[in-house]
Amino acid sequence: MSSNNTVSSNSELVKRDLKTLWHPCTQMKDHENYPLIPISKAKGVYLEDFEGNRYLDAISSWWVNLLGHSNTGITDAIKNQLDQLQHVIMAGFSHEPAIQLSEKLAEITPGNLEHCFFGENGSSAVEIALKMSFHYWQNIGEKKKTKFINLTNSYHGETLAALAVGDVALYKEVYQPLLMDVITVEGPDCFLREDGESWESHSRKMFQHMEQTLADHAHEACAVIIEPLIQCAGNMRMYHPIYLTLLREACDRHGVHLIADEIAVGFGRTGTLFACEQGNIAPDFICLSKGLTGGYLPLSAVLTHNKVYQAFYDDYDTMKGFLHSHSFTGNPLGCSAALATIDLLEKGQVIEKNIALSQHMASSVAHLKDHPNVAEIRQHGMVLAIEMVKDKASKTPYPWQERRGMRVYEYALKQGALLRPLGNVVYFMPPYVITQQQIDFLADIATQGIDIATAD
Ligand SMILES: *Cc1c(COP(=O)(O)O)cnc(C)c1O
Repeated sequence: MSSNNTVSSNSELVKRDLKTLWHPCTQMKDHENYPLIPISKAKGVYLEDFEGNRYLDAISSWWVNLLGHSNTGITDAIKNQLDQLQHVIMAGFSHEPAIQLSEKLAEITPGNLEHCFFGENGSSAVEIALKMSFHYWQNIGEKKKTKFINLTNSYHGETLAALAVGDVALYKEVYQPLLMDVITVEGPDCFLREDGESWESHSRKMFQHMEQTLADHAHEACAVIIEPLIQCAGNMRMYHPIYLTLLREACDRHGVHLIADEIAVGFGRTGTLFACEQGNIAPDFICLSKGLTGGYLPLSAVLTHNKVYQAFYDDYDTMKGFLHSHSFTGNPLGCSAALATIDLLEKGQVIEKNIALSQHMASSVAHLKDHPNVAEIRQHGMVLAIEMVKDKASKTPYPWQERRGMRVYEYALKQGALLRPLGNVVYFMPPYVITQQQIDFLADIATQGIDIATAD
């Protein structure tokens, strides 16, 4: 057995791991061929394994990390909180970190989202928003509103209702018999625009599908749920903010809620603190998680406005209350990490500084646009994606079975970077503390990795 005194090796830990651990989003048999990498510690943008190898974390440890690993501002906040209060029931009781964080989130999120309900992770936030929207319409007597409208290629998490409002077949298909019916609208994915068409024009054009669906189904629809600007799990497909503007107006006109799932794009990822800001809109519900705690602890939040809140506020025996709960809702350690993260984002003018970093990301890979197997390089702020295709002119994808992206993954690991493509899409979504030199390092690895992955 290892302890703090004995040094573990990668291979020993891998052996023990594979005996008992079942890893997320993994065909475990893959580990007969692909390495599993135990990490001993991390600092800034680097992860370090048990043999001293370092990996540049280009994907922010699954999109959660904002300000680097072992950031002392965040770890000190957690340590201070740890000495005071670790956890307490949130029904009937409260605590300062949750109160401060709810006030802060109400202040910084778009519009008048002044009521904050905490969950534990992204999927639970999505479930909360769906249930709140449905229950709102029930409470005000609109009993026929029972359905949700979503977009093709969307992703909102893996629990059953969150999965139902998603549209990525890879995660969803097998569970279909278990899932509620949703109304799926063809989305604004700008990769599918015609040659020479602008993102804005394509996004406007695709909005007609949403307009039609709202006209047909508003009477039975609770809400439209979307990922503003980037469908991250859907291969980092992107669209123009005009779609958000048009959607907000149409949801109001048709009497349907708008749920913005900013779990992956919130806290500066797209270049603004929240992606909704770029469409100049406020949703009825915003879901936050991932970067909320700087990626240090599991926590999520759903914020909504007073009109929704008031529809639940009544005498107990009217049975209008929202009786939803999770054991670790509003955990004080998570809240203190979130408060420290938001403080560091604001004081360090991080989002302003990210402009230069995102421009550097763009120029570092600009040469790849002429690559014979790169169909597109797209970007919103601190997310840049490179789409590999079999045929550039027709944008014909490589058959998924060929797993070209995994070749980039394996090559990058050998070179000291964690790049984890989604299908055939190689992307950078690094912590905001990355330097321009580190971006250049990643760009070199991505360039060589793409050459290797597309060689035959
Ligand atoms: C990751 C993600 C979720 C799910 O969050 P979990 O914490 O993994 O449950 C939901 N929506 C979006 C847009 C996400 O990227």
